[in-house]
Amino acid sequence: MVNPPVWRASTHLYPDEASRKAGGPKNEDGRFYYGRRGGPTQWSLAEALTEIEPGAAGTVLYPSGVAAIAGALMAVLEPGDALLVTDNAYEPTRAMATGLLSRWGVEHRFFDPLDIESYRGAFCERTKAVWLENPGSLTMEVCDVPELARIAREKGAVSLLDNTWASPLGFAALGNGCDISVMSLSKHVGGHSDLMMGSATAGEALYKRLRITSQQLGQVVSPDDASLALRGLRTMGVRLKQSSENAVAVANWLASRPEVAQVLCPMLPGAPGHELWRRDFSGGCGLFSFVLKGASEEQRAKLIDALQLFGIGYSWGGFESLAIPFDPPSMRSVMAWPPENAETGDRLGIRLSIGLEDPQDLIADLEQGLAATGIS
Ligand SMILES: *Cc1c(COP(=O)(O)O)cnc(C)c1O
Repeated sequence: MVNPPVWRASTHLYPDEASRKAGGPKNEDGRFYYGRRGGPTQWSLAEALTEIEPGAAGTVLYPSGVAAIAGALMAVLEPGDALLVTDNAYEPTRAMATGLLSRWGVEHRFFDPLDIESYRGAFCERTKAVWLENPGSLTMEVCDVPELARIAREKGAVSLLDNTWASPLGFAALGNGCDISVMSLSKHVGGHSDLMMGSATAGEALYKRLRITSQQLGQVVSPDDASLALRGLRTMGVRLKQSSENAVAVANWLASRPEVAQVLCPMLPGAPGHELWRRDFSGGCGLFSFVLKGASEEQRAKLIDALQLFGIGYSWGGFESLAIPFDPPSMRSVMAWPPENAETGDRLGIRLSIGLEDPQDLIADLEQGLAATGIS
């Protein structure tokens, strides 16, 4: 058969006492010991994710992307350490730093990933890890990951990258100098808005740390979900290609509209981050944002409510398009919003996750939505 079967099991039966004794202590993937250490369906998915990340030695699966973020940070940090977190990180990543990690005695500092000198100055002797995200959540800044990771290494810290946006197909995290690549598989890998999962992939040096930490935390994913994620992974390349193409068409149209102050889509020529995106990425996805010009919160809500083809909902990376408002100042510590170089003071954003629909239909939907706002 083409695909591995769904092996549902907690208990593995050994033929005799000698093989039970031989099987347990090794603690390696590929040896079925007990369900919490995973089974063949989960290993197939982990292996496939390792295979698409150049330089990787292994992948650990987690029950959500947020669990992967927490698991990876807990694998590399100890009480007394300090952590640097990009200021445009996904909100739950910030909450992990300010919440649980703080309680466990790990200090954190947010930094502006576009200001390399202040980043360099943010390290102290205890800085053991740097958290990057590229492009940044919601506001889509593209940072110089190879340079930020190189500086981290020079300072004796490991760098972890949230690579959910591009996936390894669009950005080689380890190849660009990062030590751990984290993804929410709920997004592109699942691809059909029907599963929650996360992963962390690392080279030889850190894979074992990831794995043992996740085992101690009791993290495991179900074989049914692993099978769905594997199925999604088979078509991820073509879905990403199509949704990127659709997103660029929609972004390009939005850029021409008088109601739009700025389009935050690194794939779009002329948009912020486009040059670095072209230098470092081999692909993109359907997720980008835009900022309304001269709109009130009520007008923004009217636009979102008027949309017929876009759902209102969290998450992204599915086959269907979604729209959600965002307000960066509530999630920032050091980066200005709107950015200092923005042409207008507008700050009300909408994030779009463009799916596999016909982009002309999506554009027509946005056109009637913009008309409903009364912004001119
Ligand atoms: C959604 C998301 C996550 C978290 O993933 P879940 O699977 O929803 O827990 C992490 N990082 C980014 C950038 C995300 O958008």
